[in-house]
Amino acid sequence: MSLIKSIQARQILDSRGIPTVEALLTADDGYSAIASIPSGTSTGSHEAKELRDADPLVYQGSGVLKAVENINRILAPALIGKDPTRQTEIDQILIDLDGTADKNRLGANAILAASQGVCELGAAVTGYPTYKYLHLKYRLSERLDMPTPIFNVINGGKHGTGNLDFQEFHVIPATNKTYSQALECGEVIYQILGDVLAHRGAIRSVGVEGGYAPNLFTNTEALELIFESVRQSGFEFARDVFLGLDVAATSFYNGHSYAIRDKSQALSRSELLEFYREINDKFHLFGLEDPFAEDDLEGWKQITAAMARQTIIIGDDLLTTNKQRTKDAVDKQLCTGILVKPNQIGTISETIEVIKIALAAKWHIVVSHRSGETNDDFIADFAVGVNANHVKFGAPARGERVAKYNRLLQIEEELK
Ligand code: PEP
Ligand code: MG
Repeated sequence: MSLIKSIQARQILDSRGIPTVEALLTADDGYSAIASIPSGTSTGSHEAKELRDADPLVYQGSGVLKAVENINRILAPALIGKDPTRQTEIDQILIDLDGTADKNRLGANAILAASQGVCELGAAVTGYPTYKYLHLKYRLSERLDMPTPIFNVINGGKHGTGNLDFQEFHVIPATNKTYSQALECGEVIYQILGDVLAHRGAIRSVGVEGGYAPNLFTNTEALELIFESVRQSGFEFARDVFLGLDVAATSFYNGHSYAIRDKSQALSRSELLEFYREINDKFHLFGLEDPFAEDDLEGWKQITAAMARQTIIIGDDLLTTNKQRTKDAVDKQLCTGILVKPNQIGTISETIEVIKIALAAKWHIVVSHRSGETNDDFIADFAVGVNANHVKFGAPARGERVAKYNRLLQIEEELK
């Protein structure tokens, strides 16, 4: 049996140039694993808390040296000598050492670096690729299938340049394509969209997830331009490829109404629902993520009752990969799909528990990156290991995004 020999953490930068945590773990028989932790820009308020130093003299207050120290001084001594394949036991130690409900004492970034690192090390010492290790360990499905990618081709909201309210505009290849066919489909449409935007003089580089951040007038216009790009690509809309949205509605909700530039006056809950119906009639959305604010539960209830037969209603900020919030959403029928982000909760075991609740409710599982990423490709293995229906890793461009899409190409070959 292999045992954890050392854990050494350090501060590195994520894709936005903001500090994050990386941990290197070794086992006494020579195996090693490295885990680096992503970070959100539009974080839900119910997420576990990442620890930042708040020292204005170091990285403008965004340093993570305390989180690094918590790994090296508190978490590492508690895990050294343990069997890295005992994920549940180890995660419980991490949870107990922190002792808070939202992991604000030691930091969810510190805790996940240890938890994810242990998962990777557990896979390494057993000799399995991480996706296979997760599959054998948790058995969330009979067999392993490749997930279908959701490509974020236009970045608005907090991810863009400020003129689009909706955060993400998605291109989603049909599920009957192989993964590599789907990747090609998304990439071709992404390239054509760049030309379409340039032709209109609307292009303004890219946002934090690699999608374009164009200077357009309305959210509907962004959908129309993606629709036009699909038409030019030769792929058939609503047969080969679908559109989708992560609205991230909390960011344009003032507690009473929703202000979007498509309408001259802020919309009430029912007016926003009507707007989504109009969009869906025109663009046949495959999925609609965070259509209402994270605590506007009445909005979620209404849209799920009204639209869930036509499109998947996906909870991200609503659920924050949190067991209790997920259970409540199942009971109240607030959505029909979940965005899964391990760093919203802080351990691999708790993430798996949330997925089990969602699977029992027959929800759609989407495993997701964060806007702040590194080249770590763990999330690709994780998505396959839990047999996610879809993955959302950003645009098919930029190193930290394609690290995940490329890892899926390797896994696809292995699964053939
Ligand atoms: C999202 O909202 O789905 C997302 C990936 O963005 P962030 O990481 O900024 O929360
Ligand atoms: Mg989201």
